[in-house]
Amino acid sequence: MKDRYPTKKIYVGGVAIGGDAPISVQSMTNSKTSDIKATVEQINRLHFAGADIVRVAVPTIEDALALKSIKEQVSLPIVADIHFNYRLALEAAKWVDCIRFNPGNIGEKSRIKEIVKACKERDLPVRIGVNAGSLESEFEDKYGTTAKGMVESALYNIKYLEDLDFTNIKVSLKASDVDRTVEAYRMLRPLNNYPFHLGVTEAGTIFHATIKSAIGIGALLLDGIGDTMRVSITGELEEEIKVARAILKDSGRAKSGVNIISCPTCGRIEADLVSAVSEVEKRLAHIKTPLDVSVMGCVVNAIGEAKHADVAIAYGKGSGLIMVKGEVVAKLEQSKLVNRFIEEVEKMAKMKEAN
Ligand code: SF4
Repeated sequence: MKDRYPTKKIYVGGVAIGGDAPISVQSMTNSKTSDIKATVEQINRLHFAGADIVRVAVPTIEDALALKSIKEQVSLPIVADIHFNYRLALEAAKWVDCIRFNPGNIGEKSRIKEIVKACKERDLPVRIGVNAGSLESEFEDKYGTTAKGMVESALYNIKYLEDLDFTNIKVSLKASDVDRTVEAYRMLRPLNNYPFHLGVTEAGTIFHATIKSAIGIGALLLDGIGDTMRVSITGELEEEIKVARAILKDSGRAKSGVNIISCPTCGRIEADLVSAVSEVEKRLAHIKTPLDVSVMGCVVNAIGEAKHADVAIAYGKGSGLIMVKGEVVAKLEQSKLVNRFIEEVEKMAKMKEAN
């Protein structure tokens, strides 16, 4: 895995993005932002699910005016998502922690200057959010909705802000397919050191979005690209956070929680491994300490995997072994294995936390 690209560190509220900061996870509410009660409830759900930052859409002045009250009731940093109307950005900038807008779709330069002034006054960063589906016409006419067009749009918008002496910037380059998304981020990365917000947009239902995001965001993370991210899913809000955290963990960019190694099963299987692993996954979801555990269906590969795992189960005929750091600590009948395994994992997590 490559080292992370050295980016400028910025702050969205209390959350650092870029530099040596952990890669943060974002999501977005889907309530009308002007519905304060529903929006607060969604933000709190996302907070509870493990989001670091939340974005809210601000398409009307009612939405912008609701931000003061929303901000008073939540503790997650809020990004206001603005298109076209600079007055919405000016109102939002009084309350939120970051503004997402593209200078290229706001219009007159005097209006952009006003937004930049408001952001400077409160030290708010701006996310330049390039989306292949809404490129400025001059770039779409010249390059089509290609990665090159997305990068040219980003460079244009970045320069717009830099010319106003504003560099508190992060950038996203989202397309609905993995190929263009990855190409665009890779193309833009060597051209500046602003932190990048990663995502494959409009990625679909949980099944497809998980695959697209794991490939696209995962590839970029392995390249050392990415400082914050959102997995876009047409589904329940919490799923975005769950998938994003899993991508971070499985790409090796975040060390937290239990990494479960389990075999795919085959004709040698000696137990109901599917039920056992599902139970293990649910019962260990609360553990934040990084641990490797393995749950294997027979002794063929179990002993080898157990040597590298903190805690392991090796199923055998009617019984099985519990192993800690490669040593057998118990031989039990199958019905008792999962409970003992959970006990050993929780004990190991406590020990590691105490050290
Ligand atoms: S560990 Fe055993 S049951 Fe699982 S896939 Fe390997 S040989 Fe098959």
